Amino acid sequence: MTNFLIGILILLNTSQIRNQEYLDFWIIWNVGQGQWISHILSDRCLHYDSGGEFFSFPPLKKRVIPLCRSRQNQLFLSHWDLDHINFIPSLIKLLPRLCWQAQPPPLKMTQLITQVKNLKIPFCVDSYKTFQTWNSSLGKTANDRSWVYQDRQVLIPGDSTSPQEKLWSKQMTGLNQIQILILGHHGSQSSTNQALLSALPKLKLAIASAREARYRHPHAKVMKRLQKNKTPVLKTEDWGSIWIF
Ligand SMILES: [Zn+2]
Repeated sequence: MTNFLIGILILLNTSQIRNQEYLDFWIIWNVGQGQWISHILSDRCLHYDSGGEFFSFPPLKKRVIPLCRSRQNQLFLSHWDLDHINFIPSLIKLLPRLCWQAQPPPLKMTQLITQVKNLKIPFCVDSYKTFQTWNSSLGKTANDRSWVYQDRQVLIPGDSTSPQEKLWSKQMTGLNQIQILILGHHGSQSSTNQALLSALPKLKLAIASAREARYRHPHAKVMKRLQKNKTPVLKTEDWGSIWIF
């Protein structure tokens, strides 16, 4: 992915996608404040979280479901907050071949978490090898305990917070290959610190899955840090769902 192209949903030609034999592209869905990221590959579709304020399902049904329905769909959760899991009941209806990585449920079960747990989604047996994860079970809050995913050159920190970020930015190997950073905690000022940016020498782009108009994310301080780092930022709030090829 040395040269990547960013397209907006409306520009995509579905028939072209269907005819490709080799598939490897990403969609950062516009879900308002939340996170749902799909990585579409030839043999599987990976989904990192599936939640947010709103989602328009027709584009998914028209363009992605025909591709992913016949493939195995693997779901990776960062943590169990509403804005990361509330689409899962809808997702499982659209993608029956959905499995997920084992994730310990939180101590405090809300109605939605119980509902998601009751969906009885099977665990994936065929794990996806070309990525690494990091998780702290010692963190105090759900955000602290966010799982962090590196999938090839893309880094997805969930809602990981500063103290954790300082740990994993030292402990995760391979961060020096990251080209795209999904801003941690939707661009909150408590994430994306200089220690992390220094660990990402090849970073070319940051993406905010957030809504500034309501939540002030990405935070002005984070935007400044990124500007200083010469990293451009795309926001789903401005561009809609962002496709990366
Ligand atoms: Zn969140």
